[in-house]
Amino acid sequence: MLEIRANCELCDVDLPPHSKEARICSYECTYCRNCAETVLKNVCPTCGGGFERRPVRPHQSHRGELKLGLEYHPASKKRYVSKWTTEQIETLVNGLKDVPPEQR
Ligand SMILES: [Zn+2]
Ligand SMILES: [Zn+2]
Repeated sequence: MLEIRANCELCDVDLPPHSKEARICSYECTYCRNCAETVLKNVCPTCGGGFERRPVRPHQSHRGELKLGLEYHPASKKRYVSKWTTEQIETLVNGLKDVPPEQR
């Protein structure tokens, strides 16, 4: 199940579960739209993959017996902080930004 992380790993802005600004890579590394597009240029600094919009998890369970939604699977409260330096990020981003994610 997708971990709905609480913040952008780079700038630490809050990314609540209903946010339309949250971007994730396939490993659930989570960034705000601004960092993903302007700083990271669609390159995850950890895995090198691209980003997609994080789906919004519904508030309620719409299939009662399945017990879904934030009510049963709340967003994570853990805050992540990028472990990479600005220089390390720039090196990876510059090497991959012009390669489409499906070819990395
Ligand atoms: Zn950010
Ligand atoms: Zn990643």
